[in-house]
Amino acid sequence: MDKGKVGEDMKEVQQLMTDCFSLPKVELHAHIGGCIRPETFLELAEKKGVSVEHIDFYKVDIKMAFEIFVVGSKLVTDLATLHRITTEIIADYAKHNCAYLELRSTPKAFGENSKNDYVNTVINAIKESETEHMRVRYLISVNRSSGVADAKEAAQLLRDMKGEYVVGIELSGHPEQASFNDYKEIFEELQKEGTKISLHCAETKN
Ligand SMILES: [Zn+2]
Repeated sequence: MDKGKVGEDMKEVQQLMTDCFSLPKVELHAHIGGCIRPETFLELAEKKGVSVEHIDFYKVDIKMAFEIFVVGSKLVTDLATLHRITTEIIADYAKHNCAYLELRSTPKAFGENSKNDYVNTVINAIKESETEHMRVRYLISVNRSSGVADAKEAAQLLRDMKGEYVVGIELSGHPEQASFNDYKEIFEELQKEGTKISLHCAETKN
């Protein structure tokens, strides 16, 4: 084997990595619950006594992805933690030279804190973390496993909080637990009102 040649190839690969890393990027599909730093994930799990033995960050298929979401929801149970993970996610995307980042997450009520408080916490984290090179916006998520009443509440929350930072709504959640048809009317109504919509689709066979 020509060691000189291998060295040259390595240099080229490293240069390619550096170039890719520094390319300006647009990220339109970042779930807050799915982008928690692995070290933060493990730290919170230990603090809260949540088992993560079955989580494999190196083998994320659709089943594992939803496991991560389930465990994540047990770890993020207060606004301070939400603020922390959102800030970390934005910092991580900034390192990858992301120019536009669109976060998405289902607003939750924590104890005495309302879903409005959840949205405001995300907005505050964005305001504090945005840079002149990177714009960050937020989509309110509708979890299709939570039912139509919950989706109607999310639609109203969107109407109340839509603005500079809250720019749209999306449908997510486990694809095998409900059908888009149940939510079609709510989304069509929002669309007529001029709301921008993002939908998950084709996640499973058929
Ligand atoms: Zn998604």
